[in-house]
Amino acid sequence: MKIAFHGAARGVTGSCHLVECAGTRLLVDCGLFQGGREIEEENAEPLGFDPAGIDLLLLTHAHLDHCGRIPLLVKEGFRGEIVATAASRELARLVMLDSAHIQEEESAHRARRAERERGNRPVAPLYTTLDTLDSCDRFGRPVEYAKPVDLAKGVRATFLDAGHILGSANVLLELEEKGRCRRVLFSGDIGGAGRPILRDPSPPPAVDAVVMETTYGDRLHRPLGPSVDELYEAIADTFHRGGNVIIPTFALERAQELLFFLREGVESGRLPRTTPVFLDSPMAISATEIFERHPECYDAETRELFRDGRDPFRVPGLRLTRQAAESRATNQIAGGAIIMAGSGMCTGGRVRHHLRHHLGRSQSSVIFVGYAALGTLARQIIDGARTVSIFGERIPVRARIHTINGFSAHADRAELLAWHAGAAPATTFLVHGDPEAMTHFAGRLKNTRVELPELHEEFEL
Ligand SMILES: [Zn+2]
Repeated sequence: MKIAFHGAARGVTGSCHLVECAGTRLLVDCGLFQGGREIEEENAEPLGFDPAGIDLLLLTHAHLDHCGRIPLLVKEGFRGEIVATAASRELARLVMLDSAHIQEEESAHRARRAERERGNRPVAPLYTTLDTLDSCDRFGRPVEYAKPVDLAKGVRATFLDAGHILGSANVLLELEEKGRCRRVLFSGDIGGAGRPILRDPSPPPAVDAVVMETTYGDRLHRPLGPSVDELYEAIADTFHRGGNVIIPTFALERAQELLFFLREGVESGRLPRTTPVFLDSPMAISATEIFERHPECYDAETRELFRDGRDPFRVPGLRLTRQAAESRATNQIAGGAIIMAGSGMCTGGRVRHHLRHHLGRSQSSVIFVGYAALGTLARQIIDGARTVSIFGERIPVRARIHTINGFSAHADRAELLAWHAGAAPATTFLVHGDPEAMTHFAGRLKNTRVELPELHEEFEL
């Protein structure tokens, strides 16, 4: 019985863990490395194992850093079964297709540059839309929460609510080899408790070993309530000045959570009922439709809304703008509108057009509600840049900038510690975190052997 770490090892992205037991080789997640060219080049490095020899892939959730190398795995010979919840399966399809599209565009862009400039070499896409469609065919049985499934001799898996994004799960593996039994729990990404839409994370079962994320292992989050108040106040203040509100939005979960809160704001009278709300992101629109199809993932409050025939994501003034022409038409609106557009870190997507249009207007506001990595346009604006470059133009920053921090989809240090204490493992493998967060968190753990695996490092279970 062995485990090896082929991603998210002393880093946040690229989750990919290989378990071998009783002749079965299974992966938990196969995510993309993300965050700047140097990290992203790791995606083209050897996986560290033979994809053709893998029998099963268990997917904890559909974020790109957990599913984004699946098409590569299939392209390189994986013919096994992908096991996931029904919601994860639909979201992963969307996320992987979007990723393939970006890879193809990036490759075409580099090919054009290589033709123009010497020194630039063309790069083949990591994978294509066709590879991704092949990957979608590899999804086998959908699993239900809390129902154990026997996947192979000596391998039983149970998916538990992780409360992170729609369909997300912790995966409990019950392994048996030559009479030896081991219970191993993979955290995937763990959500915070008390958030709307999804159920809270399940209390973890007691296990022999955990493989756990440490994204926010070194900090505590601000509470959600005051953050929602801050959002309503920032919107009201902007409308008072006669401007529009731009919210750079991640397409999965954050967009739906914002729609949920905007609807509550309108229904409670804190936002005007006539407010036009543009969801200007084809991917977020598709993700919202997937959310609407999976009420089995909701908490009691959201299920009740649905039962009453009310859609939790339908703000009264909601307009879904799939077409680019509809997106451009929003430029005609001088004030009183909310425009949610991707990407969340403003590294691409339609939000850059809206920023070009609105950053120079002191009446308008930009509200950041998510993580912004160093070096991204979002981070430059948050850090107080006086001018920024968008599409090669220098744009002055005169709009009011708000950063609201309480919307994280990840558990904070206190919640991670409580989760770990519940699992009470003899061995703890820390993954999916910056080295500082990981080391800090490791120092807080008691009564357990802690490992911080290196990339491709292998351990006996
Ligand atoms: Zn995630």
